[in-house]
Amino acid sequence: MVQSTRNAPPCPFEKIFPSQLQRDDAFYMQLAYNLAIDAWKVDEVPIGAVIELGGEVIASAHNQRDSTCDPTAHAEIRALGQAAKAIGDWRLNHATLYVTKEPCPMCSGAMLMSRVKRVVFAVSDPKMGCLGGAIDLNALPQVNHHLEITRGVLDKPCLDLLQAYFKLKRTDD
Ligand SMILES: [Zn+2]
Repeated sequence: MVQSTRNAPPCPFEKIFPSQLQRDDAFYMQLAYNLAIDAWKVDEVPIGAVIELGGEVIASAHNQRDSTCDPTAHAEIRALGQAAKAIGDWRLNHATLYVTKEPCPMCSGAMLMSRVKRVVFAVSDPKMGCLGGAIDLNALPQVNHHLEITRGVLDKPCLDLLQAYFKLKRTDD
């Protein structure tokens, strides 16, 4: 893979080291948050995702759109591919996907197509979010699979991270 030669602005945020004892939504979202910090460090928009199945993390990814030169390399798409590979089945109907920002049209569609059981996201996106922020793909009346949605988990730190990144990038230009 081609290494990015672009310079990431220094990241003022620290990773969180969650207690392993309580594997709740906040626990998995903290892992996704840490992946978002990894994205920042390679100068990618800081969005991270993990997929949980049976209490285990079977996929973890961050946005890699710029470094891979691939418009589909969103954290969620990469995580869905990893998860399907890990279990040897494209149907992820017992899995929960955690992502630091509300999924875009492409990722929301991929979640429906992979029949993920549950999606937990942090920051709502009124512009491009397709699980209730801008529109709700999950509410398509003819679709026979519906996602269980939980929103707002750890939204403050995930939003702070995104806003700080964009602010620094703007002053960069
Ligand atoms: Zn996306």
